[in-house]
Amino acid sequence: MDLKLQQYINGKWVGANSENTRNIINPFNQEVIAVVPEGDESDAKAAIASAREAFDNGEWAHTPPTERGAVVRKIAELIERDKEELAHLESLDTGKTVEESRGDMEDIAGVFRYYAELADKNGGELIDSPVSNSISKVVHEPVGVCGQITPWNYPLLQASWKLAPALVTGNTLIMKPSEITPLTTIKVFELIGEAGVPAGVANLVLGSGDTIGAELSSNTDVDLISFTGGIATGKKIMQAASTNVKNLALELGGKNPNVIFADADFEIAVDQALNGVFFHAGQICSAGTRLIVEESIHDEFVNALVERVKKIKLGSGFDEDTQMGPLISAEHLAKVEKYVQAGVEEGATLAVGGKRPEDPELQKGFFYLPTIFTDCTTDMSIVQEEAFGPIITVEKFCAEEEAIKLANDSIYGLAGGVWTNDIAKAERCAAKMRMGTVWINEFNLYFPHAPWGGFKQSGIGRELGKLGIEEYTETKHIFQNLKPEPLNWF
Ligand code: NAD
Repeated sequence: MDLKLQQYINGKWVGANSENTRNIINPFNQEVIAVVPEGDESDAKAAIASAREAFDNGEWAHTPPTERGAVVRKIAELIERDKEELAHLESLDTGKTVEESRGDMEDIAGVFRYYAELADKNGGELIDSPVSNSISKVVHEPVGVCGQITPWNYPLLQASWKLAPALVTGNTLIMKPSEITPLTTIKVFELIGEAGVPAGVANLVLGSGDTIGAELSSNTDVDLISFTGGIATGKKIMQAASTNVKNLALELGGKNPNVIFADADFEIAVDQALNGVFFHAGQICSAGTRLIVEESIHDEFVNALVERVKKIKLGSGFDEDTQMGPLISAEHLAKVEKYVQAGVEEGATLAVGGKRPEDPELQKGFFYLPTIFTDCTTDMSIVQEEAFGPIITVEKFCAEEEAIKLANDSIYGLAGGVWTNDIAKAERCAAKMRMGTVWINEFNLYFPHAPWGGFKQSGIGRELGKLGIEEYTETKHIFQNLKPEPLNWF
């Protein structure tokens, strides 16, 4: 593998201080595909010191935004140049199909391009001062040193949503990818160096969450934590970040409803309901795992889903006809199996799947069959908790109000969908669904121009879009009196 396989601190490729290493596993066959340094708190501290120095005494925060934008545009070009290598690495590391990884790389280059274009469009404004002979202006400045922590399901995509806006706004950063999927992030740090990001501005540390992640979250030299991952980790980070009242951006999980009305285009709704969950084996924060179907079409809809699910081809992400790869790890497979077991015990009906595949070719991989439960109710753990696997639960409704009530019955509020040809009904539902994104006659579509994030326990703040820039800037008001006079109060 032509990859540095090290950490990147202060512009240099380095091993872990402890010299410990971690094996990176291919989830398709459990083979070791790379050995990377396993950093700890001391590596995180070195990276934080490097980012702090680069922010306090370096040029990046004061470089003209147009120039920062040019560097970020260069990163986009280098990603496009190396997209095949990156897509290959992502599929090797996550098990997802290489076709999907290719799509990810297009999206990732698009994110860097989008923020490169916004770099010099974030100027401040003069405001109408109520005081005569004065100037009152508002400017946007970088937040400072940013800790960025990413999950394993979309390793490089999630990293791009954090790296690009942080860099164009003049911050310095320390990125910690998921310890089980660091390969494409390592590669992009090679490209960040090649693009001309100055030493110390962007640092990469490799290792676990409870060492490096905890250090980034609690260290008082870090000004902002941007985290994508599960709710339980997000809560720990909130607590740790209280040490110096850090800025916080949290993209947490989802248990997303997909509401199908009887007047929807049946075939398209079936197709997209499958896509909304079984893409990347359900390991998507916005997966439409809670299907809420109008009673009059419920049975026909479920039958159509089941027939299509039986034909889903599991296999290696590198085989052209593979539609679904393995889950990420043995531990995660065990979690998904536990949820299916709970669904059965809680009284849901298993319509299809519910076990590992029997194909001898798949036995070394962490595969699980796409699974559908019917007769589901909101009190079941499979309806309320994020299994993060290829599981759909189906609930029935009779009236619009009931559908909205079911859709909102969750601690999560990341995303949801509604399928109907009645536009007024669609708009009524979208207005009442308590989620950061609502798709009408669509599911799981996102792009850099639109904000992404959650209501309720799905998180705090927004990535992507112009709001993604706001996460990485502090707003300052500067007031100048052009004709100071004594107040004569004291
Ligand atoms: P996770 O919370 O276990 O880990 C995410 C990251 O946090 C990893 O890098 C991990 O090492 C680190 N971490 C773990 N403990 C930590 C600690 N105490 N302090 C600091 N960092 C720590 O999540 P995961 O299993 O990697 O990813 C799956 C989760 O991510 C799901 O819940 C999914 O919904 C969520 N997710 C959300 C979005 C979104 O946009 N909202 C996108 C992708 C994934």
